[in-house]
Amino acid sequence: MKYEYDVIVVGGGGSGLACAARAAECGADVLLLEKQPQLGGATGIAIGSFTASGTPWQRKAGIEDHPDDHEADAAKFGPPAYQAKNNTDLRRFFLEHAADTLQWLTGLGLVFHGPNPEPPNRVPRMHNVVPNAKAYIAALQSRLVRCGGTIVCDAAVAELLRDGKRIDGVVVRDRDRPAVYRARRGVVLAAGDYANAPDMIARFRGERFAVVEGINPHAAGDGHRLAEQAGARMVNMEITYGPELRFIAPPRDGFAQLLPARGLGKIAYLLLDQRLVERYSRWPHFLSTAPEIAYAYVADYLRLRPDVAVAGRLLDDVAAARGLAAPVVRETVERFNRFAAGTDSDEFGRRSASILMDGERWVLLGPVKAYFTTTEGGAAVNRRMQVVDDRGSPIRGLYAVGQNGLGGMVLWGHGLHIAWAITSGRLVGEALGRQD
Ligand SMILES: Cc1cc2nc3c(=O)[nH]c(=O)nc-3n(C[C@H](O)[C@H](O)[C@H](O)COP(=O)(O)OP(=O)(O)OC[C@H]3O[C@@H](n4cnc5c(N)ncnc54)[C@H](O)[C@@H]3O)c2cc1C
Repeated sequence: MKYEYDVIVVGGGGSGLACAARAAECGADVLLLEKQPQLGGATGIAIGSFTASGTPWQRKAGIEDHPDDHEADAAKFGPPAYQAKNNTDLRRFFLEHAADTLQWLTGLGLVFHGPNPEPPNRVPRMHNVVPNAKAYIAALQSRLVRCGGTIVCDAAVAELLRDGKRIDGVVVRDRDRPAVYRARRGVVLAAGDYANAPDMIARFRGERFAVVEGINPHAAGDGHRLAEQAGARMVNMEITYGPELRFIAPPRDGFAQLLPARGLGKIAYLLLDQRLVERYSRWPHFLSTAPEIAYAYVADYLRLRPDVAVAGRLLDDVAAARGLAAPVVRETVERFNRFAAGTDSDEFGRRSASILMDGERWVLLGPVKAYFTTTEGGAAVNRRMQVVDDRGSPIRGLYAVGQNGLGGMVLWGHGLHIAWAITSGRLVGEALGRQD
């Protein structure tokens, strides 16, 4: 095993793999260190949407588009208070390069369908990888290996090393003893978000949010901690994507993995009557985004996810099909209807005149849970993705990509996080790969 490389990448999700693969393609000697036993990170469990403008897929569909329009539309997503904190210069720069990233990925054998619409984008911009985001990991890993890169899993980077003012290495603590790796050209932080780091969520978002989990259980904020320790300016750390309701992933692991680690609380179900079924059956009221079909409606869930969706004529039947006590479900609906009619308050003391739930068809979806999907804070970076300190000076030898190097951008809507992860990784990989 060698201990000195041109480039060291910390993290083997979308951004780290893109960086390592592109640097290796350009001729650099690359080491990628991944904390988990396997590559993937949040990228590997994502849907896979990639939003970009000025792409060949758009042109084929007769759509004229431009990054300037895309930047203007990107500012219309999500809470205005968050958009006010956006780093417009960096986001415009990113959007300029996203289409080239899609073409690079196509050259690696990936297939996309789309573009799919997502208002308030003025034209369809969402490109969906087939079959899902794991395809990014497989294609980038295979490219990295073919170009001679080295991947070490089960290797958590615990510390950055400095030679004077320059970051020039990392320390990996494994079970036996620490290993030190040196980087001749740069260390790239690509260690993902902090959605499942209760201490960081409490510090930046507020104590009361610390009980909300990240959907990716391994999103522990290591890269943010390493950047902060190196003197990085951290920006927008209080902005989180969520909490939002998401279906709980079906258990597919071995028996040991099925044992509850944190209790079974915080679970909810979504009940739709005939009126709501009709509402969530057509654009723009989709239930969620989904691999390959872009948007999933009630019928898609009933067809594709019978593990979380059941339909029936009687409330008791749908409740029984999901193992819920029918009297409890009936009482819940009756309580809601008293609230909707304005005759009773809900359990939070609110009163409202709403629409009653009833009818001849019910759909029960769940279990769901409120999760942080991701976090929007990261190290401040310049256009070369060099990490910068409080005075705006680059910390020599240190780069941050993906969720570690968000640089103050607000990437609300679907498809911009993966587009940024792979674009920022590709650009830094190319710059470091070509450096002599
Ligand atoms: C369920 C879900 C669906 C999503 N769907 C979409 C979508 O369709 N489109 C979209 O644009 N965005 C989506 N997102 C968001 C998007 O997937 C992520 O923001 C993006 O992929 C992050 O890429 P990344 O490379 O920064 O981080 P990750 O992909 O999380 O990679 C980080 C890697 O670093 C490793 N690591 C962490 N600490 C260390 C350490 N100390 N040493 C070594 N390695 C370390 C991690 O184990 C991980 O493998 C989704 C997110 C979730 C959770």
